[in-house]
Amino acid sequence: MARKEKAEKCISCGVNLIERGYVRYPCPQCGAELGRCAACRHQSNPYKCQGCGFEGP
Ligand SMILES: [Zn+2]
Ligand SMILES: [Zn+2]
Repeated sequence: MARKEKAEKCISCGVNLIERGYVRYPCPQCGAELGRCAACRHQSNPYKCQGCGFEGP
């Protein structure tokens, strides 16, 4: 249940978060860690939490 996963891929485009500029932050709804690459963060690409299905910019 309380599976703690590290966000290693961008939630929007799936790229590995190895380059600088990415962000990790908790899902506003369930608290699961979400990662976003710099490009998606910059473009405010939509994402969907894999844990609870929350969608947001
Ligand atoms: Zn991305
Ligand atoms: Zn969530």
